[in-house]
Amino acid sequence: MIPLAEARAHVLSRVEALAARPIRIEQALGLVLAEPVYSAEPIPGFANTAMDGYALQAEDTRGAPVTLEVVGTIGAGYDGDLQVGAGQAARIMTGAPIPDGADAVVKVELTSLPDGSGDRVNVEARVKPGNHIRHPGEDVAAGERVLEAGTVVTPGRVGLLAAVGAYDVAAHGRPRVGVLSTGDELADAAGPLRRGQIRDTNRRTLLSLVAEAGFDGVDLGIARDDPDDIERAFRAGVADCDAVLSSGGVSMGDFDYVKVVLDRIGDMRWMQIAIKPAKPFAFGIVDRTPVFGLPGNPVSSMVSFELLAKPALRAMAGFPPSDLGPATVRAISDDDLSHRNDGKTHYVRVAATRDHQGVLHVTRSGGQGSHQLAAMTRADGLAAVPDGSAAGVGDLVDVILL
Ligand code: AMP
Ligand code: MG
Repeated sequence: MIPLAEARAHVLSRVEALAARPIRIEQALGLVLAEPVYSAEPIPGFANTAMDGYALQAEDTRGAPVTLEVVGTIGAGYDGDLQVGAGQAARIMTGAPIPDGADAVVKVELTSLPDGSGDRVNVEARVKPGNHIRHPGEDVAAGERVLEAGTVVTPGRVGLLAAVGAYDVAAHGRPRVGVLSTGDELADAAGPLRRGQIRDTNRRTLLSLVAEAGFDGVDLGIARDDPDDIERAFRAGVADCDAVLSSGGVSMGDFDYVKVVLDRIGDMRWMQIAIKPAKPFAFGIVDRTPVFGLPGNPVSSMVSFELLAKPALRAMAGFPPSDLGPATVRAISDDDLSHRNDGKTHYVRVAATRDHQGVLHVTRSGGQGSHQLAAMTRADGLAAVPDGSAAGVGDLVDVILL
């Protein structure tokens, strides 16, 4: 058996980020920028008001309440040249440019109109220069690098790209990930199963995990336990996808032809990883395409995805080494999660709750068998418990939240 860290390092050493390409802002969500983005202009680009109210000279409010002459109205988008002199005020709406001569805004709530005409305004309170004024460059300076290469584009960052006028950016491709199931026992439809059959769950789960991670899943179907069928399926997958995930056929059984075939057509490494579940794992390159051989048991294939495939796919998507995951949080164990020494780190399915102080606590969430998918779906996370680690009641454990 090899440590998880070694398997992970091996996989990461053999994948690389997909090439950068020009992307329109509409398609950028979830992609990783390949080049930094700069703002040519300051944001805000001009002094403007944060409130609806009156633009005026702060000095005039020294003796508030005071009455000022209203010289005009300025809405957002105004580009006229209204001037505000001593004793004067301009009605102004949020986002509108501060007129020449004014150095403060008093919000409308602190004003009243002495007569119906709107020609004059009573200002009830004294304001300081700069009051409610948003200054140019307060958010972004001219020439500032607003996004680094390696940054994922989130909804707010899509807005920021628009704000700086970066409608075309360079981003890494979104990995197309083929998902293949293997096994003569697998059925893929409702209705009665014949003896010995089970329904294919892994392909559905893995396609969903791929989608949830932000990548494009490609359904490669089910290959039978037949070398020709397996070869055909892998060849089709690597021709069409940036990476292929298969499940099943990587353990010690007589019909585990995935191993035989991949060894023939690819450059593979077969690993026994010191973890439970998900000990067997294969990784290699077939026709320049990374191929992940995940174990067949449904829980194992999910754990293998989280610990090994997903970080590698994130690296392909352009995420930097520090951001490949899986992210862990610390939690207090309310159960004894420790195990007899077997050389493995156990990923214990746990339910997580917060106590009244907001501290995370975990308990075993039920069946821990690698075939028990229903039990897995009741878990909020996986607690990593290495051999001999203190994972008794009250101890702190590392948890991957699912
Ligand atoms: P294998 O590694 O092919 O021997 O599979 C290990 C276990 O996982 C067996 O019980 C298989 O029936 C089961 N298994 C393999 N592939 C799938 C799948 N796609 N969906 C559900 N169970 C599977
Ligand atoms: Mg099988």
